[in-house]
Amino acid sequence: MTVRNALLERFGNVGGELAIGGEPLSIVAARAGSTPFFAYDRRLLHERVAELRAALPSEVQLSYAVKANPMPAVVQCLSGIVDRFDVASAREMLTALDTDTPARRVSFAGPGKTAAELSQAVAAGVTIELESEGEADRVIAAGAAVGRRPRVAVRVNPAFEVKGSGMRMGGGPQQFGVDAEVAPQLISRLLRSDVEFVGLHVFAGSQNLRADILASSQRQTAELIVQLADGAGVALSYVNLGGGFGIPYFETDVPLDLSAVGQSLHSVVDEVLRPALPSADIVVELGRYIVGEAGVYVTRVVDRKVSRGKTFLVVDGGLHHQLAASGNFGQVIRRNYPVVVGNRLDAPTDDVASVVGCSCTPLDILGADVALPHAEPGDLIAIFQAGAYGLTASPTAFLSHPDAVEMLV
Ligand SMILES: *Cc1c(COP(=O)(O)O)cnc(C)c1O
Repeated sequence: MTVRNALLERFGNVGGELAIGGEPLSIVAARAGSTPFFAYDRRLLHERVAELRAALPSEVQLSYAVKANPMPAVVQCLSGIVDRFDVASAREMLTALDTDTPARRVSFAGPGKTAAELSQAVAAGVTIELESEGEADRVIAAGAAVGRRPRVAVRVNPAFEVKGSGMRMGGGPQQFGVDAEVAPQLISRLLRSDVEFVGLHVFAGSQNLRADILASSQRQTAELIVQLADGAGVALSYVNLGGGFGIPYFETDVPLDLSAVGQSLHSVVDEVLRPALPSADIVVELGRYIVGEAGVYVTRVVDRKVSRGKTFLVVDGGLHHQLAASGNFGQVIRRNYPVVVGNRLDAPTDDVASVVGCSCTPLDILGADVALPHAEPGDLIAIFQAGAYGLTASPTAFLSHPDAVEMLV
């Protein structure tokens, strides 16, 4: 099955229209009041978390990486169904703390945390993932200034790389984490300082569709964490194995085999982690895998024009809201995200058109030469895989077009 058809099946078809939260797209558009908009399907968020729970060992805790989609309603919804949040800025931290999730289940990662952010994190009581030795100095100072003992973990930059990741964030020199070879010194220093050292975190890459690679990276990560814990002679209470589970964006992408990842994680937990760290919280942290497929970006056709034999559907949205679909967010070669004419699902696919945004730049392509039903001004174009790294990963001020609405449906 193509990626697009699998997504159509997930969302559903009501009377020839894409269903979001069970409602036909025209009704969802009327509710939004204007186009373009992002709609996130609540049911699909629940389904995805349930799939993860079924596949992963029950003792593994699920952390949602808020940076993938920080919309407060999404974070609130997930607060009831995941175990923890991973945040990467003070503002994300405040969004996570607005939910029922307790501060000790919020971890704050990311390079370049300012002294002010560290003080906020210390005051809030979240787990601060240290990204460098300098940050350790600053967090100790923040603890003294705030009058609270900081809860800290060390993010470790492993010596190994995770192949096949869309974005590599570990192995070699990195701005992320403390190199594995110097981590023991930092850990022993933390153990002598006025901080509560809880554990270790490795996040080495993102957007990986290969179960075998994820499995071996989880095993290597677990082995590294156990080795560091042994060396330090400390019983960790927090072990964060990272994530990196990818979603299929392009027609040729093969979706991740989640059950294979889950099976391997069962044996990593039983063979590597539990014998050494019987009572640690074991955490997997995921962003796009949880929210990416639950979101669509919907934009209306403003103009249909033919230029020297090529058909263009010009829409009222574009890369200023959904940069990733234009191919300008981490892609090397531009390929199309799955796209449909959301109010004409049952019409024959008898046209080929390029869906282009309204921004005055040739970069604003949302779908190049896509096989679609014939569409006219007023029709609704829906672009899938917009639930993660959509609106907040886009240059919204570029060209000063109106904002996009966001809704949880
Ligand atoms: C970005 C990030 C994530 C989430 O990555 P996804 O590809 O969205 O799953 C998780 N952890 C950390 C530390 C990150 O920086």
